[in-house]
Amino acid sequence: MTNMDGSGIRRVAVIGSGTMGNGIAHIAALNGLDVTLVDVSAEALERAIGTIGKNMDRQVRKEQISEAAKTEALARIRTATDRSAAVSDVDLAIEAVPEIPELKYEIFADLDANAPPGAILASNTSSISITEIAARTSRPEKVIGMHFMNPVPVMQLVEVIRGLATDDATTRAVVDLSKALGKTPVEVNDFPGFVSNRVLLPMINEAIFALMEGVADAEAIDTVMKLGMNHPMGPLTLADLIGLDTCLNILEVLHRELGDDRYRPCPLLRKYVAAGWLGRKSGRGFHSYAG
Ligand code: NAD
Repeated sequence: MTNMDGSGIRRVAVIGSGTMGNGIAHIAALNGLDVTLVDVSAEALERAIGTIGKNMDRQVRKEQISEAAKTEALARIRTATDRSAAVSDVDLAIEAVPEIPELKYEIFADLDANAPPGAILASNTSSISITEIAARTSRPEKVIGMHFMNPVPVMQLVEVIRGLATDDATTRAVVDLSKALGKTPVEVNDFPGFVSNRVLLPMINEAIFALMEGVADAEAIDTVMKLGMNHPMGPLTLADLIGLDTCLNILEVLHRELGDDRYRPCPLLRKYVAAGWLGRKSGRGFHSYAG
């Protein structure tokens, strides 16, 4: 199977093989792209390949893909710890390393130095400015945000973020590729939090304020939003799923970059993060996940 979409993208490198990186590699390989998954940690790469295999097995059981498609897709994924060599012949690099600005800046300068001049450089960042990342490269017109949602194989949206200098050809290629990967791309401009987190995080923050002020307990707040607004899960359950530290980080970005106190992180959120109550991943957040 070859990838026949109009993007011209055949070879991709995914930088960072964690939660998001392994999901991106998964759907890229299933849709006929040659993928090199890159990480600083060989153990992380091993774990990622195991996760991709397990997730594809689930798709086979659900008859969403055939056993042969799974085998072919897995064969299309290579792993590497040498980032420079891994990107030397790619059409697109998608970065999915932790949400640390200095780390992303360093990686983009390096991708710029080692990827072919025509290659597109994309970031899966949730909140860091694409324009600032692009400024670290000599090809800001080819730098773009490709914001997948978690879990990548399941969620429909790709928020495609145009930096100040991103050109139309780059945007078109990424939009076409996202469609070829079975996703629905939505184009947005580069402002703090883009659209997804600009709208979502203030709602979560407000739910935490409501909890802190004793308007209702966590269960009641989530039930109101689930049954009353038809949300698949309540905002506090969603915050626990995202990770309360991540929620706090994104709110800090919105507050700092937009300079408006309506994005002020709720003190109760700060208190939970300080206590190490980070949500699902730590076993306790606004709800308990013990056992
Ligand atoms: P993660 O911590 O699960 O994975 C990050 C991976 O990057 C790790 O395997 C780590 O070893 C690797 N890494 C660290 N430094 C590296 C380097 N220099 N070179 C190569 N690999 C390196 O993180 P994640 O949850 O997958 O998030 C990745 C990005 O995606 C972040 O920018 C995050 O904001 C964004 N994002 C996350 C979610 C989510 O729900 N997790 C959703 C949307 C976007």
